[in-house]
Amino acid sequence: MARKSAPPAPTPPAPTPSAAGPAPEVVRVHAHRVACDGVGGALGHPRVYLDLGVDGTVDCPYCDRRFVLDGGHGDDAPGVYEVSGGH
Ligand SMILES: [Zn+2]
Repeated sequence: MARKSAPPAPTPPAPTPSAAGPAPEVVRVHAHRVACDGVGGALGHPRVYLDLGVDGTVDCPYCDRRFVLDGGHGDDAPGVYEVSGGH
């Protein structure tokens, strides 16, 4: 009686460790000025206003989220308020 050999279990692809650590969360916004007060709870922080400047990106110094100017649409991220500046 031949033993039926079980097929090898598929091995999930190993996660490739990134040298720079986990990438920051990117929040797309469509305003040049945003206010961030974190995502609440332990990650909440005092509200800060961030100017995306000419390059269209800024990192929140508190929660390390990165805000990227996106002309099309913005993400509905918690704790993020787009500030419509007087243009
Ligand atoms: Zn923040």
